[in-house]
Amino acid sequence: MRRAKILGTLGPSSNTIEKIAELIDAGLNVARVNMSHGTHEGHKELISNIREASKRTNKEIGIMIDLQGPKIRLDKVDKPLEPNEGEEWVIGQTKDKDKYPEYKDCYIPTIYDKLVDDCHDGARILFDDGLLQATAVERDRDVYKIKFTVGGILKSNKGINLPDCEVSAPAFTEKDKEDLLFALGQDIDFVALSFVRKAEDILQVKTLLHKLKMNVPIVSKIEKPQAVDNLEEILKVTDIVMVARGDMGVEVGNHLVPAIQKHIIRLCNTRHVPVITATQMLETMTENPTPTRAEASDVANAIWDGTDIVMLSGETAAGKHPVKVVKMMSNIIEEAEKSPKDRPLLRHMDLSNVNASVMVAASMIAEKIKAKRILCVTESGNSCRKISMFRPLTPVLGITNSIQTARKMCMYWGVYPFYIHEFDEDNFDFQIDVLNKVKNDGSFHNGDKVVITRGDGKFFSRGSSNSVKVEILNDLPGVPGSGEGMEKASDDKKDIHLDTSVCASCNNCISVCPHGIWTLTNDESKRTTIAKDKIGACTIDMECVEKCPTGAIEIISKFL
Ligand code: PGA
Ligand code: MN
Repeated sequence: MRRAKILGTLGPSSNTIEKIAELIDAGLNVARVNMSHGTHEGHKELISNIREASKRTNKEIGIMIDLQGPKIRLDKVDKPLEPNEGEEWVIGQTKDKDKYPEYKDCYIPTIYDKLVDDCHDGARILFDDGLLQATAVERDRDVYKIKFTVGGILKSNKGINLPDCEVSAPAFTEKDKEDLLFALGQDIDFVALSFVRKAEDILQVKTLLHKLKMNVPIVSKIEKPQAVDNLEEILKVTDIVMVARGDMGVEVGNHLVPAIQKHIIRLCNTRHVPVITATQMLETMTENPTPTRAEASDVANAIWDGTDIVMLSGETAAGKHPVKVVKMMSNIIEEAEKSPKDRPLLRHMDLSNVNASVMVAASMIAEKIKAKRILCVTESGNSCRKISMFRPLTPVLGITNSIQTARKMCMYWGVYPFYIHEFDEDNFDFQIDVLNKVKNDGSFHNGDKVVITRGDGKFFSRGSSNSVKVEILNDLPGVPGSGEGMEKASDDKKDIHLDTSVCASCNNCISVCPHGIWTLTNDESKRTTIAKDKIGACTIDMECVEKCPTGAIEIISKFL
């Protein structure tokens, strides 16, 4: 089971129900709906298509809307502009264009109304993630004359960065507010804020959500140097962080981005905040069917840095191979996760609350007893987020009766949602309502151990767990080891019993017996059985009994 999650941006290459279903089957966990492009009508249809695709594939998927923030952009242009190196152009608001007929062939229209005010002579103006570069020459009424030092092609809506200027626009713009209010009326799970600079930027949106009585996790996109400086404060109020390397690279220079990425991820890991690594991870797959080696390394290194989620942008939204790119990313992650990685040190973590300590205990027990899954029963998803941060080696099933909680888990490292629709809180029977349903999902065998965490007291039933329990599954219908009951073999000295309903076919008995008493059946089930012709050799040293983790073996000496 892959542990790190995949967030993919949906767009023209990936907006039909069929395509989204393929992406989900390829491994997409969360879909990003980018409010920087498209219309509310289009977004509404996309969101409904995602939900339909999730239904068809029978897999939960999270939806993150990404608010544009004070991103400065080009406005729509009828055809791409082609400024060359050394040429002088002007930049100004779209609505002013007709006022300056003398500039009609070299006018770059922007949506940002304060650009000319915020700019100063000599400031750098970067276009399309820094691919095109210009320097501000001088202001002429309400436009700025700029000279290109690196030319290229400029299409509609491309980004503009002003790394040398104090941008006066607020972090949460009027457009963001409209987009957020629209999105809250849709079925969405996360809201991403672009260009946050400080904790107040996030609190402002939290306050608005609170007033509306909505509880939607906020993803803070770290793409300004000021946000890196204020990271500790931001981590106290945000739910999730994104290392938004695109604008970050343009603002601070790409040479600084790898170190900043590691710094942000490390801090998020120790502060228990899930973190997304984003932008140009498999960029060349926008065109090509395979990535470069450097890109494959970039994804793997983000995993080894400790990122919880990796993101695809244009690759899935507008690329030629959206499904291939998700599969590729999933494969790279799975391979990276096979190599050992240091996990966050417990001594750096705050384990003083009951939930955190219970979750650490559950992770450790599950590893030591080689449990198949940790079943984390949760209402708010809080326990699942906590256990995720301890990076348990055992996969976690987050069991919940809340669809919103199930979708939140799509962002949590190592946690997969198990949504149980009908669960009657008043007449709740854990065995019937949870265990039996989980067992029937087909991934367990008799003898498998599971570690269960729950909040089952007066104070712990909501938002926090206070118990850890181990169960051995032994009554699964229709899987190896079941229904056969007891296998027996005897000679004049002893009876050997094997309870096939609890045997986990772990091979421990086979590996310790020098006499070949234990063997595997030849059929597909490959379950453990007794080699009846060999039992005369058994010396009753009991080593197999001691090594059997499920207590399936019993040897009774006839001399006793
Ligand atoms: P964007 O954010 O794609 O919305 O610009 C990500 C980034 O800047 O890396
Ligand atoms: Mn950005």
